[in-house]
Amino acid sequence: MLTPEQYAVLKNEATERPFTSPLNNEHRPGQFSCAGCGQPLFSSEAKFDSGTGWPSFWTPLENGVSTREDRSLGRTRTEVHCHHCGGHLGHVFDDGPKPTGLRYCMNGVALTFAPK
Ligand SMILES: [Zn+2]
Repeated sequence: MLTPEQYAVLKNEATERPFTSPLNNEHRPGQFSCAGCGQPLFSSEAKFDSGTGWPSFWTPLENGVSTREDRSLGRTRTEVHCHHCGGHLGHVFDDGPKPTGLRYCMNGVALTFAPK
């Protein structure tokens, strides 16, 4: 069962307000998974503090996510969704840290965290 906030993000591509997710301050080792289906998406090893107010990662787990072009809001962005259930997670930008240079900007409400 999804909360209304989870449903709005995963199914309707809403964006949570920045600095609202407790996962912003989650620094323990562990794994981030899709709140919709449990698919493993990101390792804590790829998490970094982007200062944006959304949980951010420089790489996803293998086969964790898929991407597609998003032309809403009058500009082209790359939308990120769960590879397994298709739930919307956030967007990926090319201003992240090394080694990938990518910034996976995720809605914390779309993720669950399991510490190691
Ligand atoms: Zn999923």
